[in-house]
Amino acid sequence: MMAGYLLARAGVQVAVLEKHSDFNRDFRGDTIHPSTLELMYELGLLDEFLKLPHQELRELRAVVNGQVVPAADFTKLPTRCKFIAFMPQWDFLNFLSSHAKRFPTFELYMEAEVVNLLMEDSRVVGVRAKTASGELEVRADLVIGADGRHSIVHSRAGLEQREFGVPIDVLWMRISKKQDDPKQTLGFFQHGRLVVLLDRDDYWQCGFVIPKGQFEQIKERGLAQFQNELVSFVSFLRDRVAELDDWSKIKLLTVQVNRLRNWYCEGLLCIGDSAHAMSPAGGVGINLAIQDAVATANLLAEKLQRGPVHVDDLRKVQARREWPTRLIQAMQIFIHRRVVTGRTSNDKKASLPFVARLLKWFPILRQLPARFIGMGPRPEHIHSPTAV
Ligand SMILES: Cc1cc2nc3c(=O)[nH]c(=O)nc-3n(C[C@H](O)[C@H](O)[C@H](O)COP(=O)(O)OP(=O)(O)OC[C@H]3O[C@@H](n4cnc5c(N)ncnc54)[C@H](O)[C@@H]3O)c2cc1C
Repeated sequence: MMAGYLLARAGVQVAVLEKHSDFNRDFRGDTIHPSTLELMYELGLLDEFLKLPHQELRELRAVVNGQVVPAADFTKLPTRCKFIAFMPQWDFLNFLSSHAKRFPTFELYMEAEVVNLLMEDSRVVGVRAKTASGELEVRADLVIGADGRHSIVHSRAGLEQREFGVPIDVLWMRISKKQDDPKQTLGFFQHGRLVVLLDRDDYWQCGFVIPKGQFEQIKERGLAQFQNELVSFVSFLRDRVAELDDWSKIKLLTVQVNRLRNWYCEGLLCIGDSAHAMSPAGGVGINLAIQDAVATANLLAEKLQRGPVHVDDLRKVQARREWPTRLIQAMQIFIHRRVVTGRTSNDKKASLPFVARLLKWFPILRQLPARFIGMGPRPEHIHSPTAV
């Protein structure tokens, strides 16, 4: 949507295809980072954007083995907004699409599921989609695969993908919220395990990180045991954990971390999770996908105004975005191995891991995770032209 917005703003004819009839998916996280808010400012959209319901988080805190640890301090970032805005992603996407629709060059097709690529002489020249009213063919100078971690676009193009093993899955569920609940926290860590709570205004979106493949065993132990475990992490949920009275209310999300060797071929560029699936660790995947979109528009918009782009131009997008992606994925893999898979659980008496103690003792250190999470390596700025 961000790539579509920016290219349409530059006067490039754009069609965005979304397979669902709305953007109401709850599995993508809710974080709008300071660097994304900076982009909204650069686009002149920030004031209106901040009128949408959201929570502002200036400091991330974790509860580690029962102790509160301030983990990241965003208040010193060199950005206009020194906070993470928590907003359901559907609000963000609806906002962006409503603005994009003001450009005469922008079209959005909802319920249009891309099922194949159109090929001519080994070049991608468009897509074929299934819609409620039959088949749709869209021909294009460039197809941008932004279809997430189960991308049909990159698989139909046969782009080679490298998988990095992920030892975790996430159980994803809603629990009601009460007025006197504590404020949002990054997560509740206990001896190498983790529960994350996202504040969605009238309910908590809860992510329970489990070792990969263990959902069946958890089910066999029964719902009561699962509820007790959840309460052992987040005690204030005790009075409502019984809401989880059926396994259908608990969704299993399989976590992937992978990356395409080449993010492009003739006529096609993949960005976001389609090029590099991100885990929820650090909550940075949305921001990274947006940064890819901005780099794409910066590097390609002017050329696309004139027609098809060369594969060398697509290579430049990957060259610009690959090392930030590699760095963040390396950080995610580190977090999976060291923080949330039980490796630190041997010493049950250890009240706080060393890194957590450092963050507690030296407030200045909290600026490092804030920069990494809030801005990411190599933050992009809007340089693509505007035609309106
Ligand atoms: C459990 C979990 C929690 C997460 N939490 C966070 C978080 O808090 N913060 C964060 O920054 N990141 C988080 N992430 C990572 C984040 O969700 C992704 O990195 C980010 O959504 C990638 O954005 P994207 O636009 O590339 O793909 P997506 O957000 O997956 O969007 C892809 C879009 O393409 C559509 N689509 C798919 N296939 C087709 C098709 N064939 N035809 C047409 N449309 C199609 C989909 O419906 C979807 O709208 C989380 C990930 C997981 C698994």
